[in-house]
Amino acid sequence: MNRRVPIGISNKHIHLSKEDLEYLFGEGYELTPIKNLKQPGQFACEEMVTVHGPKGSFKVRILGPARKQTQLEIDQADGYTLGVRDVPIRLSGDLEGTPGFAIEANGKTIQKDKGMIIAERHIHLSEEQGKMFNINNGERVSVRIKGPRGLVFNNVLCRVGDGHEAEMHIDIEEANASGAKNDQLACIIDPITFTKEDILIQHETGEEIPMVGDLPYMDDMG
Ligand SMILES: [Zn+2]
Repeated sequence: MNRRVPIGISNKHIHLSKEDLEYLFGEGYELTPIKNLKQPGQFACEEMVTVHGPKGSFKVRILGPARKQTQLEIDQADGYTLGVRDVPIRLSGDLEGTPGFAIEANGKTIQKDKGMIIAERHIHLSEEQGKMFNINNGERVSVRIKGPRGLVFNNVLCRVGDGHEAEMHIDIEEANASGAKNDQLACIIDPITFTKEDILIQHETGEEIPMVGDLPYMDDMG
């Protein structure tokens, strides 16, 4: 069976908590949707804010609705612009120990002590689509992208359940690296795994160094 999902490319954006939204825009403020996203209930807003890091700033669009926690999702290169190296790759909502930043809008500023992440690539599937594809929530798969820069993305986490709709979310850098376009169909394939021997290559110094970025699983392989 062909297990194909459309690609959705995420540009840098911010989710605001209700508290932060009301502080910056006023009590009871309602965001102005300009475009519905594929994920049910999610929308891009007319409103933008400026985020500040230690070395730089830029404007980002707010995605609604308001969330439990304020979360800034950026590319690695955006991190360099802000002056933050090693922005962690995290799933939405997993913000413990992530870098902070300042948010500015309407002459007001909030300093956050956490919330800056590079979004971990993932696939959304409804309960029914998960059953059809034989994929459970939390499972990891590999995904093949066709085209002149075609490649296979490994370690793609699947989020299956109500409130999700078939779509693979990648960031601008992943899209550029693979030549992927919005709504292009990506093919889910079985997870490509490596043995420890596959991963390690001999450096000319005699030192063993990792060849590919599958380090989180090396411990499991002993
Ligand atoms: Zn997503």
